[in-house]
Amino acid sequence: MKKIGFIGLGNMGLPMSKGLIQEGYHVTGYDLNEQALLSLKQAGGEITSTIADVVAKSDLIFTSLPSSKAVEDVYLGVDGLVDRSDDSKLLIDTSTVAPELNQQIAAACKAKQLSFLAAPVSGGVIGAENQTLTVMVGGPTAIYNEVLPVLEVLGENIFHVDEQIDSGTTVKLINNLLIGFYTAGVSEALHIANKKNIDLDDLFSMLNVSYGQSRIYERNYQTFIANEDYNPGFSLKLLRKDLEFAMDVADNNQLDLPISKTLLALYKEVEQEGFGDKDMSVLYQRVKEQSNK
Ligand code: NAD
Repeated sequence: MKKIGFIGLGNMGLPMSKGLIQEGYHVTGYDLNEQALLSLKQAGGEITSTIADVVAKSDLIFTSLPSSKAVEDVYLGVDGLVDRSDDSKLLIDTSTVAPELNQQIAAACKAKQLSFLAAPVSGGVIGAENQTLTVMVGGPTAIYNEVLPVLEVLGENIFHVDEQIDSGTTVKLINNLLIGFYTAGVSEALHIANKKNIDLDDLFSMLNVSYGQSRIYERNYQTFIANEDYNPGFSLKLLRKDLEFAMDVADNNQLDLPISKTLLALYKEVEQEGFGDKDMSVLYQRVKEQSNK
C-alpha cells in the first residue's frame, strides 16, 4: 500500500486525509497552521514540519492549498516538492488554481521525470468528509491508472478528462462559474420571498420539486441560510478566486462573457465589504442588508 503525504490540512485537506487514514493508509501531513497539524495527529496521522520530510516519508503526495501563490511556493519553491522529489514520487494537486500554474508545475516535473496530476475536486467539505467528492483529473493516463484506487477513497465520481494537465481544472472552473451564478440567483430570489412573507422552509419544499431546484440552493439554504450561520464551508474569497481564473480562461481564448464579468465584479465588491472569509452563501445576507429600496 502506498504511503501518502498531505500538504494543506484545511477545510478540505483535513477531512480528505482522515478518509485516507480510515481506509488504512499511512498519512504524513504538513501545514503552516499548528492547529491543523494537531487535528491530523488526533485522527491518527503523522505530522511533520518540512516538505522534505513529507517527501521522504511518502510515495504519493497530495496538496490542497488555498491560492496559486501557496501552490507555487509548495511545488516550485526552494526545498519545495519538485526540488525534493525523485522520479519514484507521485504528486497530485487537488487545489483549484490557474490552468497556467498546472502547466508550469507539469513542465518542472517533466524536467525531473516526476509524475504529476492536476486533480481539482468538487463536493465541498461534506463531500470530503463523506468521501463522495467528484475528482476531475488532467494528466497522463498511466499515472491516472496507477493512482485511481487512492482517488476512489476520496471520491465517488472520478473523471479522467484527458491527458492535458489543465483539462480537469477547466472543467472545475466551468463548474464554479455555475456555482457563482446559482449562489447569486438564490440570494436575490429568496429575498423576494422574504419581502412577500413567504416562509423560506415552505419555499424550499415547493422549489425542491420544481425546476427552480438546484444542489446549490439546497446546500446554501439548508446548511447555511436556514441556520443563519455562514462559517465555511466554501469561502466567498475562494469562489471569487475561481471566477477570476474562469475569466482568465475566457480572456485567453478571446471570449467576451459580459454576464460572468458582472458576476465577478459583484463577488469582488462583497469580499471587499468584509464577507470574504464567510461561506459563499453569505451573499444572501448581504443582499438582505442592501437591497431595500
Ligand atoms: P483552507 O484555507 O481551509 O485550507 C488551506 C490550508 O492550507 C490551510 O490549513 C493553510 O494553513 C494551508 N496552507 C496555506 N499555505 C500553505 C503552505 N505554503 N504550506 C503548507 N500549508 C499551507 O482552504 P480549503 O477550503 O481547504 O480549500 C483548499 C483548496 O481546495 C482550494 O484551492 C479550494 O479552491 C479548493 N476547494 C475547496 C472547496 C471547499 O468547499 N472548501 C471545495 C472544492 C475545492
